[in-house]
Amino acid sequence: MSAAAKIPAQSPMKAAIKASTKAAIKAATKPPTKAVTKSPAKPPAKAVTKSPIKANSRQAELLNALPPVRGKLKANKSLADMTWFRTGGAADILFVPADRDDLQYFLNHTPSDIPITMLGAGSNTLVRDNGVAGITIKLGKAFADMRRIDNDIIHVGAAALDMTVARWAAKTGLSGLEFYSGIPGAIGGALRMNAGAYGRETADCFIRAWAFDKYGKQYELTKQDMGFTYRTCAADDELIFISAEYQTVPADKAKIIAHMNEIAAAREATQPIRSRTGGSTFRNPQSGSRGGSQSGSRGGSQSEAQKTEKPIKKAWALIDEAGCRGLRKGDAQMSEQHCNFIINHGTASASDIETLGEDVRARVKSNSGVFLEWEIKRIGEASQ
Ligand SMILES: Cc1cc2nc3c(=O)[nH]c(=O)nc-3n(C[C@H](O)[C@H](O)[C@H](O)COP(=O)(O)OP(=O)(O)OC[C@H]3O[C@@H](n4cnc5c(N)ncnc54)[C@H](O)[C@@H]3O)c2cc1C
Repeated sequence: MSAAAKIPAQSPMKAAIKASTKAAIKAATKPPTKAVTKSPAKPPAKAVTKSPIKANSRQAELLNALPPVRGKLKANKSLADMTWFRTGGAADILFVPADRDDLQYFLNHTPSDIPITMLGAGSNTLVRDNGVAGITIKLGKAFADMRRIDNDIIHVGAAALDMTVARWAAKTGLSGLEFYSGIPGAIGGALRMNAGAYGRETADCFIRAWAFDKYGKQYELTKQDMGFTYRTCAADDELIFISAEYQTVPADKAKIIAHMNEIAAAREATQPIRSRTGGSTFRNPQSGSRGGSQSGSRGGSQSEAQKTEKPIKKAWALIDEAGCRGLRKGDAQMSEQHCNFIINHGTASASDIETLGEDVRARVKSNSGVFLEWEIKRIGEASQ
C-alpha cells in the first residue's frame, strides 16, 4: 500500500477509522487456519475509475484513497432500503464488487485502516441514523451461484438468499435445507449468525466456507474453524464469506416441498413475516444471563454454577412477563403477534427502534433479573 493512498494525517475521519479498526481487531477471536490463495498482484481486467457522486468532503477523501474497481462504488448511499427495517442512515461508501477478483483486488489495495462493514440481505441488521463510516460491502449476483458438486453436496455463493437455496435444493431433490425456506437472509449472514429454525441450524449441514480477510487473502474454513454456537460463529469478525459447501440428503421432491410448506404455515401463524422487522430482537438467554454477566450466551463453556442453574425462559416469554408486548416508541413497536420482534410501522427511526429495545431490556432486567442480549446487529453511528 503506498503512503500516498492513505488518508491525510490531520483528517478527523482517520482518527475515527483508526479507533474503530483497533476495536475490531481486539474483538476478533482467532485467525482462520488455512490460507488457500495469494492476493492478485495485478489490477483486474477492465478496471474503471470511480466517480464521486453526491459525496461530502470526508467521503470524497475516502473515495480518493480507494483503488479502481469494475463493480459499483457509491458515496453517501442510503442503506435503509437494503435492510428489512427500512430505516437508518447512509454508508460513507458502498461497494458492490463485480466478482471475486474485483473484491479481492479491492481488499488487497484498500488502506487497511479504513473500516469495512459487511451487509447481507439486511434482515438481521439495524443501521443507525447517522450512517456507517468507511466502506460497506454488499455482495451481488456474481456471488449468488448455486451448484450441485456431488451427489449430496452443494456449493452456494454468499449472496444467494437462504430461501432461494432451499427452494432450489428441493427442486433438485436434496433435503436438509428446508429450514432455510423461511429465513429471509443470504448465505453470508446465515454463516455469520448460524441461522436456524424449527430444530435445525446452519452448523448441522455446513461442510466448509471460503472467505477473504480484509487484505484480500483467501481462506478455507472448516466447521471447527467456524466455531458455531447459538446464533453466532467464532470465525474472525473481519472475514468476508464468499461461498460455502453444504451437506444434503437426496430425497423425494414432493416430501421436501411438503416439509417446506409446513414450515411456511407455522411461520405465518406465529411471526409478523410481512412487516418491517429484524426478526428476533434478542437472543434466547442461555445459562449465565442472570445477574451481572451480559455475555453468558456467547461462550461455549459453562461454569459449574451455570450448569446447575435452571434453564432460563425464552426471550419472548421474559418480554411478555415484563409487560412489553405491544410496547411502542413512535412508530416502533414490540409486535403483538411475536413480542420478541420489533416492527417499524412506517416512520420509525433507527433511534426509535434501538431506544425501544433498550427500554425492553431494562424492564426485563428489572422484572426477571435477566439481561437480554441483542441478536440484531446494530451498525453505524447514532444521531446526536
Ligand atoms: C421476518 C424475519 C424472520 C426471521 N427468522 C429467522 C429465523 O427463523 N432464524 C434465524 O436464524 N434468523 C431469522 N431472522 C434473522 C435473519 O434473517 C438471519 O439472522 C439471517 O441469517 C441474516 O442474514 P442477512 O443476509 O440478512 O444478514 P445481515 O442482516 O445483512 O447481516 C447479519 C450479520 O452477518 C454479517 N454478514 C452478512 N453477510 C456477510 C458475509 N458475506 N461475510 C461476512 N459477514 C457477513 C453482517 O456483517 C452482520 O454482522 C429473521 C429475520 C426476519 C426479518
